[in-house]
Amino acid sequence: MSDLLARHRAVMPNWMALYYERPIEIVSGKGVRVTDAEGNTYLDFFAGIITNILGYDVEEVRQAVERQLATGVVHTSTAYLLRGQVELAEKIVALSGIKDAKVFFVNSGTEANETALLLATYARKSNQVLAMRQSYHGRSFGAIGVTANRSWKNNAYTPLTVHFLHGGDRHLPQFAHLSDADFIKVCTEDLRHVLATATGGDVAALIAEPIQGVGGFTMPPDGLYAAYKEVLDEYGALFISDEVQTGWGRTGQSFFGIHNHGVTPDIMTFAKGLGNGFAVGGVVARGDLMDAPHATGLSTFGGNPIAMAAANATLDYILDHDLQSNAARQGALLLDGLKEAAPRLPVVGAVRGKGLMFAVELVEPGTGEPSPPLAAAVMEETRKRGLLVGKGGLYGNVIRMAPPLTITEEDAREGLGILIDSLEAVSEAAK
Ligand code: PMP
Repeated sequence: MSDLLARHRAVMPNWMALYYERPIEIVSGKGVRVTDAEGNTYLDFFAGIITNILGYDVEEVRQAVERQLATGVVHTSTAYLLRGQVELAEKIVALSGIKDAKVFFVNSGTEANETALLLATYARKSNQVLAMRQSYHGRSFGAIGVTANRSWKNNAYTPLTVHFLHGGDRHLPQFAHLSDADFIKVCTEDLRHVLATATGGDVAALIAEPIQGVGGFTMPPDGLYAAYKEVLDEYGALFISDEVQTGWGRTGQSFFGIHNHGVTPDIMTFAKGLGNGFAVGGVVARGDLMDAPHATGLSTFGGNPIAMAAANATLDYILDHDLQSNAARQGALLLDGLKEAAPRLPVVGAVRGKGLMFAVELVEPGTGEPSPPLAAAVMEETRKRGLLVGKGGLYGNVIRMAPPLTITEEDAREGLGILIDSLEAVSEAAK
């Protein structure tokens, strides 16, 4: 064990998951590549878990942050007017598609979801919430309460009453015989049943990830959430879209993932990529919902000047360079390449994704059982070959990838090659 790892184990909690048999210490980064303390350089297809949406050391973001630092104001009270907040909120309101929207900034996805749940439960005077099976929304009492992923669920003594819906679990064998249209019908009938029988109808909201991130990039067919929204509207229940992973053009198809379903939600939450590595999160919601609670006050660091400088520069960069289109282009190249290779890779159970959010499910050859050890083996192989990827899924058997939206075709092809070579090596060893 390295000295740093031993020191980490001594003073950090046991449940902090570290990737790899020999965990990596990243010491520098440029573009889509990072370098570790041993001097190894990697293509980063996980982009610091989706945070580095533009990659590392981006000139425009660095200059924006340096300009703010040079003013001497790293932080000041958010009880003063902050120009960066107003400018960023105006852009997000316009992009959200939500009518008369308002924005509140926080520091993380967890806090954003907590705020969204607060707004919805307050507006509806109900602690009943619907969420999706296999979901992940964060680590606070509310956010973990609407999470349905056993790896994160242990300490969920949540104050909310939560019912979990089908949709993101489209890929499960019990739904294989259904067409997408029939699946949507079955799920929608189930939603009606839950509303009518389990809740008494006074539900505050549904919270959903358009593509389930931690769940292993699983997703319902396009159109499911439009069908859900229709039913929710009948009951006056609100729709919260958790865009922490799917926002900012990531899916290629739309700027926010929920727009792929033709749905305009009442509330959207965001974090991760917006600051290109700086901690920033927020909620964009219908103005009437946002204005309703009194005395919820401020977030001390939410919307701070440095985060706002980074986020404004990042969002401008995404829009100026039309990175949504690049996500669609490079995402298609990567997904098609993986789908083409899959039939000759017996450890690959499924390949799925949208835009620059794509995943490979690892299974035991022959039985098709989810295989966390094979996923771990793929991670070790890709690392050896110079590619960083992520892991997820209910069983920890899904390799998840979400490269920076700036990735070039050349880098995409290089990463794809490494990934396929690694899957071949693991397939060979599993024979
Ligand atoms: N929502 C989703 C969809 C996420 O993927 C995450 C983080 N993995 C969160 C919320 C929580 O975000 P944070 O870790 O910034 O609190």
